[in-house]
Amino acid sequence: MNCKDCQISLPNLLLDAAAPSNAAAREHLAACTSCNEQFRSLKATFDLLDSWKAPEPSPYFDQKLAVRIREEQTAPPAGWFERVRARLLFNTGRQFRPVMVAAMALVLIVGGGTAADLSLRSAPVQASATVNDLQNLDNNAQAIQTMDQLLQDDGSSDDTASPPQS
Ligand SMILES: [Zn+2]
Repeated sequence: MNCKDCQISLPNLLLDAAAPSNAAAREHLAACTSCNEQFRSLKATFDLLDSWKAPEPSPYFDQKLAVRIREEQTAPPAGWFERVRARLLFNTGRQFRPVMVAAMALVLIVGGGTAADLSLRSAPVQASATVNDLQNLDNNAQAIQTMDQLLQDDGSSDDTASPPQS
């Protein structure tokens, strides 16, 4: 086996180094320093990935989402201008572009090209008190999570860290 073949079978070696089909690759690793080094570096990376834990979703995510949905449902229907603006802002369809170009040309013609203020200023989003409260709770929970993480990191060297309170 040459180095190229060995590198191709490195993933198989990582998954199951003891498999009989990897015997040739194992032999090559024992003889070839550069391939062996590559394998060990790859293995270290994968070991690190194994120890990595995906962060927990925020504890109030569902509640916040539900509140936002309810707010949108109870909000008064958007006016004609709002709907057109939303379409202009979020529509990426190609079929809409000629209309945009025509509208902009019209604006330029009407305005004489002097004061065509095309910037669509977005109205400030006003969150309700409930959403604000949930946001604060969320921030607190995140701060506590970070503190736990820091305490865990500190105690990991002597393995006496108390389990995270959750
Ligand atoms: Zn090699």
